[in-house]
Amino acid sequence: MNASHDIYLHRIHAALKKLGADPLLVEQRRLPVHREAQTLTPIGLGTDGRDKFATPATARAWAAMQNAAWADGVALILHSAYRGFDYQLKLITAKLARGMPLDEVLRINAPAGCSEHHSGRALDIGSPDTPPLEESFEETPAFAWLAERATGFGFRLSFPRDNRYRFLYEPWHWYFRGVRGPR
Ligand SMILES: [Zn+2]
Repeated sequence: MNASHDIYLHRIHAALKKLGADPLLVEQRRLPVHREAQTLTPIGLGTDGRDKFATPATARAWAAMQNAAWADGVALILHSAYRGFDYQLKLITAKLARGMPLDEVLRINAPAGCSEHHSGRALDIGSPDTPPLEESFEETPAFAWLAERATGFGFRLSFPRDNRYRFLYEPWHWYFRGVRGPR
C-alpha cells in the first residue's frame, strides 16, 4: 500500500464518518477502492440530457457494443457513466436528506471512493422499454442481449443477485474490464 493510496483511503473513511457511517465499512464489506479516472472522453448524452464521459478504451468498447446491438435490432441507451468522488457523496447525502436510512443508501450507492463509476469504466445501461435503473430492466431484450454478448466486448455485470459486496442487484450496471483473447 503506497502513500497516495493511504491518503485516498483516509478521505473515504473521513467521508463515511461524516455521514455517520462506520468508517471501516469499506474493509468489512471488502469493497474495492476506485480512483477517479485521469483521462476521460465524451461518449454521448445520457438520458438526463447531459454529456457522459468514460475512459477512451471504455468509450470505444461501448460504441462497438451499442452498434452491434443496434445491428441485431436492440437499442442500448446510456443513463450514466463517469462520476467523481464528490458527486458520489452528493448522491448519498441527497438520498439521506430525502429520509432514506443510511444502511439502505449504502446498499444502493457505493461509499464515495468505492464506486466503479469513478474509474470511468462503469456504465449504467438501459432500454427504451423500461424506466432507468430498475430491476425490470432484466426483462428487456436489451438485457438479454447484454447477458449473451457483453463479455465479448469486455463488459461484465458487476452486481448480480446476492453479490459478495452486498449491493442491490443492478442488471443495468456494466463494468469494462477489457477484452482478453480473441472475440
Ligand atoms: Zn452504476
